[in-house]
Amino acid sequence: MTAPLAWKRVLLKLSGEALAGDQPLGIDTTVVGRIADEIVAARALGAEIGIVIGGGNLFRGAWLQKQGTDRVTGDHMGMMATVMNALAMREALRARGIEAPVFSGLPMPTVADTFTQRDATRALAEVGVALFAGGLGSPFLTTDTTAAMRASEMRCDAILKATNVDGVYTADPKKDPTATRFDRLSFDEAIRRDLKVLDTSAFALARDNAIPIIVFSLKEPGTLIDVLQGSGRATVVAGRDD
Ligand code: UDP
Repeated sequence: MTAPLAWKRVLLKLSGEALAGDQPLGIDTTVVGRIADEIVAARALGAEIGIVIGGGNLFRGAWLQKQGTDRVTGDHMGMMATVMNALAMREALRARGIEAPVFSGLPMPTVADTFTQRDATRALAEVGVALFAGGLGSPFLTTDTTAAMRASEMRCDAILKATNVDGVYTADPKKDPTATRFDRLSFDEAIRRDLKVLDTSAFALARDNAIPIIVFSLKEPGTLIDVLQGSGRATVVAGRDD
């Protein structure tokens, strides 16, 4: 028998790097297809999945600024990169029978619907999957903050933050062998420790709207379903300090 879902409506945050696979930059369509398979399987269990996609596999405003580009222009390029990634994911989902709309926070009406809470909520309920691109449409922000905002607007039960590691650690486990992993921690502690897994603004928004953040790795097949069923290896960030 299939285990019940721990969360019915979720916001899945995919970084741009997740779409690049083992390459430093770009989009690996095989990897996009594998993630799309996971989303289709999660949908088949009845989950409603909003997906915020980052753009770090293509452009980030902060990198471009270091090379001399104006920061706001660089952030516009970063937001456009997220739209490209969302289109790649839309095509992978379409090939698997899910017609997920792309809603962009940066209006680009030729290629994506402009985000409104009303249209996106309807699409999420009717199609079961919706893609959120273009960040929040403003510079100096990230797609982590976008994920917390869209999760709040869509009344999601949880934010699933896919990373390359299986949870939140005291330090980067790839650089620091003494780093230890949390099973669970409060939003306040995550902010106090300045853990880099998400932005402080994303943690604060999720905390204020009481939406738990589940940090997990999408590297192994089946992990999205495991996390949705509450059994996967992950760190849960939730609650406040007393
Ligand atoms: N960005 C922005 N405003 C937003 C969201 C994103 O300006 O609301 C820009 C910013 O330059 C960022 C880039 O888009 O670096 C890509 O997003 P992010 O770095 O969050 O992607 P990820 O790390 O998830 O791949």
